[in-house]
Amino acid sequence: MGELDTKGRIFDIQKFSTHDGPGIRTIVFFKGCLLRCRWCCNPESQSREIETMVKAGKPTEIGYDTTVGEILPGILRDLPYYRRSGGGLTLSGGECLLQPDFAVALLRAVKEKGVNTAIETTLSTRYEVVERLIPYVDYFLVDVKHTDTKKHAAYTGQPNERILENVRRLVSDGANVTVRVPVIPTFNDTEEEIASIARFASSVGVKELHLLPYHRLGYDKYVGLGREYLMGDLKTPDTDHMERLKQAAERQNVTVKIGG
Ligand code: SF4
Repeated sequence: MGELDTKGRIFDIQKFSTHDGPGIRTIVFFKGCLLRCRWCCNPESQSREIETMVKAGKPTEIGYDTTVGEILPGILRDLPYYRRSGGGLTLSGGECLLQPDFAVALLRAVKEKGVNTAIETTLSTRYEVVERLIPYVDYFLVDVKHTDTKKHAAYTGQPNERILENVRRLVSDGANVTVRVPVIPTFNDTEEEIASIARFASSVGVKELHLLPYHRLGYDKYVGLGREYLMGDLKTPDTDHMERLKQAAERQNVTVKIGG
């Protein structure tokens, strides 16, 4: 069996995205995540199982098994756009590190064609797994949600020690790491909490930090999955507040961007 036969379970492929890395990108969404963030805007990504979600009034199957060879031609079709815009492929989810054989085979296959690569990850796995991807990833976009492990566990279902340690090791192994922080009211949206994350990032050598304001865009998906939406009617942080958080983070010697 060759690498093109490597199997994976995904739930979506988005073309022409301008998020999650530079330029115009194709995003492959892996199915399955270790965390259960209360605000997750892709709740259909969390379970590894194939699920039914009601979309526009119709029950729809979410998740399917595929191989590198099946999805590669569709990804490479946009090569001219990637080249012109500095874009490429991003693996998102869910958590792509839970399917490392598939992730490595896919990244290696596109790298051979000169495609720029990124992964969006929590690094919530053994470092030996993370390490396997280093040669094939141009940008690691790593979610760091809180520096307080108890609060992290209460809102995501997992402690943060392994995540923080993996960020440190990844930077020291020479990977290009951007820390991304979903800014969630009532969870981590004070200047102290954001400064603490920025201080951690700066202390391990991360140069860039993105602040991603909370939004309710996932709400309909919770309804479609028959799940309770745990964030109530929390509002998106306003521009002035985001600007104050940005300044609090910048004081820790990192470059900060709102959005990402
Ligand atoms: S890590 Fe991302 S995909 Fe996983 S539950 Fe949290 S927000 Fe959702």
